[in-house]
Amino acid sequence: MAFEIKSIGIIGAGQMGNGIAHVCALAGYEVILNDLAADRIKSGLATINGNMVRQVAKGLYTEEERQAALARIQGSDKTASLGNADLIIEAAVEKEEIKRRIFTEVCPHLKPEAILATNTSSISITRLAASTDRPERFIGIHFMNPVPIMQLVELVRGIATEDETFELSKEFVTRLGKTYAVSEDFPAFMVNRILLPMINEAIYTLYEGVGSVDAIDTAMRLGANHPMGPLQLADFIGLDTCLSIMQVLHEGLADSKYRPCPLLVKYVEAGWLGRKTQRGFYDYRGEKPVPTR
Ligand code: NAD
Repeated sequence: MAFEIKSIGIIGAGQMGNGIAHVCALAGYEVILNDLAADRIKSGLATINGNMVRQVAKGLYTEEERQAALARIQGSDKTASLGNADLIIEAAVEKEEIKRRIFTEVCPHLKPEAILATNTSSISITRLAASTDRPERFIGIHFMNPVPIMQLVELVRGIATEDETFELSKEFVTRLGKTYAVSEDFPAFMVNRILLPMINEAIYTLYEGVGSVDAIDTAMRLGANHPMGPLQLADFIGLDTCLSIMQVLHEGLADSKYRPCPLLVKYVEAGWLGRKTQRGFYDYRGEKPVPTR
């Protein structure tokens, strides 16, 4: 019988991991949500619940459907709990050595036919696949943030990804009600290859004093019709993730046009990572976000 994906394991319960768990559970999959510590899983589950409550209030689905979806998500801080999953999606931090360590740890627990995917924003799928025991059943399934809202998923095959893995991934994304775009395995794929240099340039524009945070974001919202200014978007993505993606572009494509702005580095060194730490290009601790420059 053909292999069928029924249960999804998710590694990392941060903003992406909890969003992926949310959409998978709503689509009827059984979900295991894994993170390093119980409190992170608890806060991931609380975020899912809050987001689902809002969706019910908007009339997107019923309270019964919300409860049924939540009941399909099990949290676990044990790697072994991922052993029953048919598709495992890694959504931990954007650091290659951490992702490699996760794969080394998790692979021995997985079924031989299980598909292993990564939600990496930028790192080579082929290289990550090589650190697993199943490069043929490894693929990039790159969701956009916030997952419950954004329509697109990039699918990225590594050099060894076999057709069945690709086809099952397409079916999975389609069942979530999302649309996929297929990208070749080059640094940062398509969306971030285009988006992140724009954000980095906005940070240079700030760094060089061309405009203030507010002026730059207003300029791009009203002048280019972007729904969100680039600095607001950077805070939303997470400045650590933005920096990691720029570093991958810089190293992977060996072109100085991708050098990360020193001001971005400084914010990350300060631990001002954007919304998730309450401070980035804006300070989110008060009622309204206040620009930090
Ligand atoms: P995040 O910092 O919100 O969450 C990362 C989570 O991974 C944390 O909860 C952390 O505890 C957990 N984690 C770290 N090491 C772990 C381990 N060994 N085992 C289990 N869990 C572990 O980050 P995020 O924004 O959710 O990003 C996650 C991934 O998704 C990254 O690869 C990122 O590049 C990618 N991504 C991010 C965005 C975005 O806009 N933020 C969009 C698309 C893809």
